[in-house]
Amino acid sequence: MPSSKILTTSFNYQGVYPCPVCRVGKISHMPLMEAMACDFCQQIFTVNVEQQQIKMPSRQPPLIWHWNGFNWTEAQIEGVEFGWGYLIAAGAFVLLPTALIGIVAYNFPPKPETPLSWVPYVWTALTFLSHLAIIIWLFIEVYQIPIRAYWRAIQQRFLNR
Ligand SMILES: [Zn+2]
Repeated sequence: MPSSKILTTSFNYQGVYPCPVCRVGKISHMPLMEAMACDFCQQIFTVNVEQQQIKMPSRQPPLIWHWNGFNWTEAQIEGVEFGWGYLIAAGAFVLLPTALIGIVAYNFPPKPETPLSWVPYVWTALTFLSHLAIIIWLFIEVYQIPIRAYWRAIQQRFLNR
């Protein structure tokens, strides 16, 4: 009966689950170990069946995912709650310097005929991009996003066409 598909699945060693890190591969039980591994990005996870969660111990502090019956919840850093404060701080870090330089460039525009009059505008854009890059780099560092695995997946998809 198709109704069985509506039922949630519990997390156990016998199942095969999507990989929460790369979201491309599947994780399955490693024989003789209380661990699961991804067939794509090779990440290894320790398993806690009672709490329906897996932990990625290859980074400190470890990342944790909970199985909600359908899918993995968003990654949590053990002992750290990511709140709105971090998001606002990240947004301010990107926007405030950009806004400051932009306001100066807007209020004191260089005369168009002077050489290098475009510098303040380029400088504003560079400020935005460099601060955004720092935030993206931090995000990748914190969540250990397997960029190489993604890159391989993109290449394989491209080659198989
Ligand atoms: Zn994976």
